[in-house]
Amino acid sequence: MELYTTQMDAARRGIETEAMKRVAEYENMPLSNLMGLVAKGQVAIPANKNHRCLTPYGVGSALKTKINVNLGTSRDCLNLDVEMEKVKRAVDMGAEAIMDLSSFGDTRKFRRKLTESCPAMLGTVPIYDAVVYYNKPLQEITSQEWIDVVRMHAEDGVDFLTLHCGINRSTADRFKNNGRLMNIVSRGGSLIFAWMEMTGNENPFFEFYDEILEICQEYDVTISLGDACRPGCIADAGDISQISELVVLGELTQRAWDKNVQIIVEGPGHMPLNQIQANMEIQQTICKGAPFYVLGPLVTDIAPGYDHITSAIGGAIAATYGASFLCYVTPAEHLRLPDVDDVKEGIIASKIAAHAADIAKGLPGAADWDYQMGVARRELDWEKMFGLAIDPEKAKRYRAESTPENQDTCTMCGKMCSVRNMNKVLNGEHVDIMEDTKECPSDK
Ligand code: SF4
Repeated sequence: MELYTTQMDAARRGIETEAMKRVAEYENMPLSNLMGLVAKGQVAIPANKNHRCLTPYGVGSALKTKINVNLGTSRDCLNLDVEMEKVKRAVDMGAEAIMDLSSFGDTRKFRRKLTESCPAMLGTVPIYDAVVYYNKPLQEITSQEWIDVVRMHAEDGVDFLTLHCGINRSTADRFKNNGRLMNIVSRGGSLIFAWMEMTGNENPFFEFYDEILEICQEYDVTISLGDACRPGCIADAGDISQISELVVLGELTQRAWDKNVQIIVEGPGHMPLNQIQANMEIQQTICKGAPFYVLGPLVTDIAPGYDHITSAIGGAIAATYGASFLCYVTPAEHLRLPDVDDVKEGIIASKIAAHAADIAKGLPGAADWDYQMGVARRELDWEKMFGLAIDPEKAKRYRAESTPENQDTCTMCGKMCSVRNMNKVLNGEHVDIMEDTKECPSDK
C-alpha cells in the first residue's frame, strides 16, 4: 500500500519523496524548507505517478521561474514528426514543461508517446481533447463524458491538467451582464461557455470538482486552474469577468488543498504594464500564495509577429512580483501555429524574462551567470562569451558575419572599443585610436 497520495500529502506527512529531493537539490534549497512550501501549496511539484521518465521540477515564487512550451496538432497542421521535433528542441533548450494542446488526429497516441519519452513536466487541456475524442456536436457531450476525459489524461501520465473550473454559471452571468471588448479568448473557456449556454447546465468541471479531485489524488495530478476570462486585449484587463473568476479560483484552490491536491492558478493574458504588479498581488492574496502561471502578460496588443517580445516584457514583471511559471509566446501568436524556429524564438524570449525576474527577486546565485558574462566581456574573451550566451549559435553567427580590424574588438566601435582601451590604459599601455587606422573613405 502506498504511504501517500500526492506530493502535497507526502509533504504534510513528513515523507521525503524522490521528486522533492531532486527539486531541493536543483533549487539549492534545504529539503525541509521545500517540504514546508509544498505542504502549504506555495510550491507544486507536478509529477504524475504514470509519467515514469519525468525529471521533476517545482513551481512556486520562492523557486527559479519555470517556462512552458505549448505545442500539438491542429486541424490545419497535423504533422506529428514536426511536433516531436518541437518537443526535442524545447527540452534541449531547457523548457521545464510542455503542454500538448493537440486538437486533431490521434491525440492519445501523441500524448502517450510524450509520457513515455519526454522528461519535461507535461500538461494538457482535456476540454480540447474531449471535443476530438467524442467526435460529436459539442452540446451532445455529457457532463460525465467531460470528466471521463480528465480521467483518461490522468491515466496516460499527464502531470498537470488545465481545467476551466472557474467559469461557473455565476461567472458566466457576470461576463454576460458586463460585457467586454474581446469576450472570452481562452479556447477551453470559450468551449465550455458555449456548452453551458447550449445545454443550460452548470460547468461540469465546477459541478463535479470533488470527483476531479479524487482522480487527481489517485494519479498525483496537479490542477492548473484555467482562466477562461483572461483578458484578450488590454482594454479587458482587470475587469469584472477576470476578477470574478479569480475569486472562484481562490475558493477552488482551498478545496483542492483540503484534499491534498496540488494547484497552479492560471492568469493573464493581455495587460498594461502598470497593472501587472497589482494583479499579481491580488492573485497571491486571493489564492493564498498558490503558484501563478501566466500567459504573457502581453503589454500591448499592436505587435503581431513580435508577441514573444510583448509577452517577455510582461512576463519579466509578472515573475518579479509573484508569478512563478511563464507560458511562452511565439512570434506566431495570433497569426498561425508556430513552426520550429518560432518555438525557438519563443523559448529564448521566455527564458530571458524568467532569468531577468530571478535576478530582480534576488534568488541566491541568479546573477552569477551575468557576472561571468561581465568578466568574459571585460577580458574580450569571445569564446567564453559564446559559451555563456543564452543562444550561442546566434551570438557566434553575428560575430562571424562582420569581421573587425582588431580581433579583440568588434565592428561596432573598432579601435574606439572602450573595453579594449580601458584594459590598455589601466595596464599602463599607450592608447592611440588613430594609429594604424585605415584611410577613411570620407577623407578622400
Ligand atoms: S567594439 Fe564596442 S561594442 Fe564591440 S566589444 Fe568593444 S566596446 Fe563592445
